[in-house]
Amino acid sequence: MTADAPSSASPHRDPVVDPAERSPYPHLLSPLDLGFCTLPNRVLMGSMHTGLEDRAADFPKLAAYFAERAEGGVGLMVTGGFSPNMTGWLKPFGGTLRWPWQAGKHRQVTRAVQSHGGRICLQILHAGRYGYHPLQVAPSRLKAPINPFTPRAMSGFDVHLAIRAFVRTAVLAREAGYDGVEVMGSEGYLLNQFTVPRTNHRTDAWGGDAARRLNFVVEIVRRIREACGPDFILIYRLSMLDLVADGSRWDEVVAQARAVEAAGATIINTGIGWHEARIPTIATSVPRAAFSGITARLRPEVRVPLVATNRINMPDVAEGILARGEADMVSMARPLLADPQWVAKARAGRADRINTCIACNQACLDHVFENKTASCLVNPRACAETELNYLPTPSPKRVAVVGAGPAGLACATVAAGRGHRVTLFDAGTEIGGQFNLAKRIPGKEEFHETLRYFRARLDETGVDVRLQTRADAAALAGYDEVVLATGIAPRAVDFPGADHPKVVSYLDVLTGRVVPGRRVAIIGAGGIGFDVAEFLVHDGASTTLAPDRWRAEWGVDLRYDGNRGGLAEPEPEPPAREVWLLQRSPGKPGARLGKTTGWIHRATLKAKGVQMLGGVTYERVDEAGLHVRVGDQAYALPVDHVVVCAGQEPFKPLAAELAGRVAVHVIGGADVAAELDAKRAIDQGSRLAAAL
Ligand code: FAD
Ligand code: NAP
Ligand code: SF4
Repeated sequence: MTADAPSSASPHRDPVVDPAERSPYPHLLSPLDLGFCTLPNRVLMGSMHTGLEDRAADFPKLAAYFAERAEGGVGLMVTGGFSPNMTGWLKPFGGTLRWPWQAGKHRQVTRAVQSHGGRICLQILHAGRYGYHPLQVAPSRLKAPINPFTPRAMSGFDVHLAIRAFVRTAVLAREAGYDGVEVMGSEGYLLNQFTVPRTNHRTDAWGGDAARRLNFVVEIVRRIREACGPDFILIYRLSMLDLVADGSRWDEVVAQARAVEAAGATIINTGIGWHEARIPTIATSVPRAAFSGITARLRPEVRVPLVATNRINMPDVAEGILARGEADMVSMARPLLADPQWVAKARAGRADRINTCIACNQACLDHVFENKTASCLVNPRACAETELNYLPTPSPKRVAVVGAGPAGLACATVAAGRGHRVTLFDAGTEIGGQFNLAKRIPGKEEFHETLRYFRARLDETGVDVRLQTRADAAALAGYDEVVLATGIAPRAVDFPGADHPKVVSYLDVLTGRVVPGRRVAIIGAGGIGFDVAEFLVHDGASTTLAPDRWRAEWGVDLRYDGNRGGLAEPEPEPPAREVWLLQRSPGKPGARLGKTTGWIHRATLKAKGVQMLGGVTYERVDEAGLHVRVGDQAYALPVDHVVVCAGQEPFKPLAAELAGRVAVHVIGGADVAAELDAKRAIDQGSRLAAAL
């Protein structure tokens, strides 16, 4: 602790843990006294853009979305980002709060939340040079590497106007009934652009040295506090780890925290990594609570409550952070998309019933980047609360679901939850279908959680589960409805030597039936090809389960050893095998992977020396290996094994047999295998069950 640092023993922030409290999460569920109001627990629903913020017509949906989470017991929620003016838009016509009439629309959200006993803050976000539009501005005229637009450098007058815009938005938020605001000062948005030398090359009052680079931030916080009064929550989201070159030094992070505290912040929330950083910060392969150590480091330096963030998804993780004194609150956004009842289940000691966020980004962030409304892979009701409801059925039926993969599990549990009498058949020894393969991929350990959730849900809803039972037409006689969720068959390949003993399927490799040699070629660079490559290059325990090793691999330095941005030299572990990942289509493999995660898969494999080739023609396999042609060049890859990951075909032999005999529904991979993922499988299964 530095000499002038205040004591951490701030009276209002240390949890009062009642020894009589029988909850397994006493720190997590203890109230937090902010001086002028008391939050019921230590869970902050972090800001997350859903796409519903951008049109006032969608506010009833936004209100329903937040109301459900308030009802689930979240201590404090933060909306997605609203810009204080047009130059601060995230994208053209993105959500703003700058006119009094807009405050009226926002009241739908605040009233809905408060009617369920919740509290909500509005996030004020000025995108700066991350704005995806030509009006964007920044402290200096420096283009972001992830944006085609070059910003206009703000004049001194622009800076004053921006400060006024922030204050106006905060005042309007108060009028709209919000309990406070969060000022977005991290992730590389405008305020963060002012605070670091990477993006602030100004020489006026708003730049030049570390103290002047803070002026913009401090002015905004100070004037919001002045305008909104002492009883208004003011959260400042501070970038504690920029993860980009020329970001903040640690002493500058501390100085910023103390300055915003002095200027009137009630709570300081943690921000990790700029959007342009090339280090994953929230993907499923990031270890749980990988960054809470940085919040812990700041805690002795300030008196206001600090919030730890990133990859906190289960109550034991959150409780551990709070019990170790690393933070005063924990922030979760995606976990509350996945399960609005997260807090209520923790309080009831039923963490086993939490529908855990697996950090896949597939239905939330990927949607937002594709300009679609966010939802959740494991919970299709997220952001669809007004249209997708699992109401009790007035006429219970006998329903048979064949296949306990994600589609069948979703269908069976929703149908049974509505009151139908459901029997679920699976030929395998355990539920899960292909998720039992996915969970074996290093970095995809979270998939175990979805299977645990479904196990608990099957039990809770009383589904009659029949494992090791391959259903045939006879077994399905007598049901009112039959749902075929029988999945897929891997696509076979037909080049010469496809039947050579070196050629195996991804099923052989991931189930352990075949242990490939040291040199392996993978045919097909789709999602499964990438996962198999990841599986093959890793040896021993996954770094996702070993945070220190993971940070070393990616070059994250929580100690800030004299550097800026918390960066260190990456130290990748050597690959366990030499791997070629191939596809026939031209272009770089992996182009169709998830928008927000594809780059992580490519970077991981590149660091492990995997050769990724597009435009490949497969000629033959023989004792010498795999013979391919790329353009005019012929190559013989001297591999021990060739793993086929060439896509999938629907598997539904029962469909023809049952046609005309009973009401049959075909879902998931059995319906359409092309571009099938678990998001579509769970969504289709849930929607069918909602309509049965
Ligand atoms: P399946 O999961 O294939 O399940 C079908 C089930 O039907 C099986 O359990 C089978 O035993 C059973 N069955 C078949 N016939 C019968 C019968 N006659 N009687 C009884 N039971 C029968 N998707 C994503 O969205 N994100 C990912 O990150 C992801 N990673 C993956 C990683 C790997 C390695 C793999 C292999 C897949 C991955 N997927 C991922 C794809 C995802 O797992 C599938 O899209 C999803 O499992 C399809 O669900 P489904 O229910 O349609 O079929
Ligand atoms: P996929 O993504 O469709 O990829 C199939 C691959 O096989 C492509 O690279 C394709 O490329 C190649 N291919 C197709 N036909 C071929 C043939 N006849 N001979 C040789 N190569 C052929 O399918 P997948 O990898 O099997 O994945 C199945 C589903 O699971 C996908 O929808 C995927 O999204 C999902 N999944 C998602 C993730 C994730 O992380 N989100 C992970 C795993 C799986 P060319 O045609 O160019 O050769
Ligand atoms: Fe979590 Fe995936 Fe759902 Fe997003 S889509 S909330 S990352 S489980």
